[in-house]
Amino acid sequence: MISRVLSDDIAIDLGTANTLVHVLGRGVVIDEPSVVAVQNRGGVREILAVGDRARTIVGRTPEAVEAIHPLRDGVIADFVAAEEMLRQFIRRAKSVFNLRRPRILICVPAGATPVERRAVYETAVSAGARRVYLVEEPVAAALGAGLAIEEPVAQMVVDIGGGTTDIAVLSVGDVVLARSLRCAGNAIDDAITRYVRREHQLLLSQASAERIKIGAGTASKAPGGRAAEIRIRGRDLRHGKPKAVVLTPADIATAIEVCLTDIQEFIQRAIEDLPPEVRSDVLKRGVLLSGGGALLQGLDAELERRLGVGFTVPEHPMQCVVAGTARVLETLSARRHLLIEP
Ligand code: ADP
Ligand code: MG
Repeated sequence: MISRVLSDDIAIDLGTANTLVHVLGRGVVIDEPSVVAVQNRGGVREILAVGDRARTIVGRTPEAVEAIHPLRDGVIADFVAAEEMLRQFIRRAKSVFNLRRPRILICVPAGATPVERRAVYETAVSAGARRVYLVEEPVAAALGAGLAIEEPVAQMVVDIGGGTTDIAVLSVGDVVLARSLRCAGNAIDDAITRYVRREHQLLLSQASAERIKIGAGTASKAPGGRAAEIRIRGRDLRHGKPKAVVLTPADIATAIEVCLTDIQEFIQRAIEDLPPEVRSDVLKRGVLLSGGGALLQGLDAELERRLGVGFTVPEHPMQCVVAGTARVLETLSARRHLLIEP
C-alpha cells in the first residue's frame, strides 16, 4: 500500500478539449484546456503558455498570439505543440509532488490508427516518462464509471467530447466495436452560433456559444426542463452595433436539434450492427454516457426517449476516463491484458 501511495505513477486523459492528469495517491492534479498559446516572430514559432494560462493570454494579449489546439478529433494534429503541452503538465505534476521519472499510462481513442497511437506514445516518452503504457479510452471510461468490464456481458459506452462522439462496445475487457463521429461539443456550439445568426442576425464567438450551452442549454424541447432564459450580447450583423437578445431553453433545444439527431442516428446504427446476443446485452444493460457532452441537461432522457434504451451518466462524466486510467495503473499487474501496443 505504501509503495502505491508513494509511487511515481501518472494517468493522463489527453482530450481534444481538456487534458486531465491524475497522480496516483493524490488524485486529479491538472484539469485544463488542451490549448497552447503561440507567437510567430519572423516565422519562428514560440510557445508562450499551455492550458489555463494559454487560454487567458490569448484573450488578453494585443500582439498576434494564436491559440493552437494540438489535438483534433481525439488524435494529435500538432506534434510539437502537443509535446510541449504534455511536457509542461508532466513537469508541473512532477515538481509539485517531487516525482522522479514517472511511469505514465495514457489513453487513446479506441479507433486510433497505429500511427496515431505511436504519436501519443512518443510524445509521452519525450515529455519525460520512464515507461509509457497505452489504454483505450472506452475501457478507461467504463472502469472509471465503476462498471465490471471483465464480466462476460457486453456494455456500450458513448463518450461525447469536444470534437468527436465515440461509441465502443466492450466485452470481457475487449473493445469489440469502435466508431467515431465528428459531431460533439464543438458542433453543438457551432449550431448555437448558426441559430443566433439566422434568427437574430447576431454574431457570437465560439466561447460565448459554449457559455450559452453550459449555462442554459437543454436537449429537450418539452416544457418542464430548464426554466432559465439567457440574455446574450453580440454584434448585429447588419450594422455592427452591439445588441442583446433573450434565448429560451426551447430556442437552444431547437438550435441544437440537428446535432442530437446526428448523435441519435449514429448510436442507432451501431446498435443495429451488433450481433444479436451483444445487442440484447446492450438493450438490457443500457448505455454509459461519458465525456463533457453528457452534462448537457436532459440529454440522457432525450436519447432514451428517442432510442428506447436506458442511458446512465456517471457522477463526474468528464473525469471518468482519467479515473479509469488511474484505476488500470493502480492494478497494473492484474490488468496488463488491457494495455495496447504503442
Ligand atoms: P475531450 O475528451 O474531447 O477533451 P471533454 O470530455 O472534456 O472533451 O468534454 C468537452 C466538451 O464538453 C466541450 O464541448 C464542452 O463544451 C462540453 N461541456 C462541458 N460541460 C458541459 C455542460 N455542463 N453542458 C454541456 N456541455 C458541456
Ligand atoms: Mg475525452
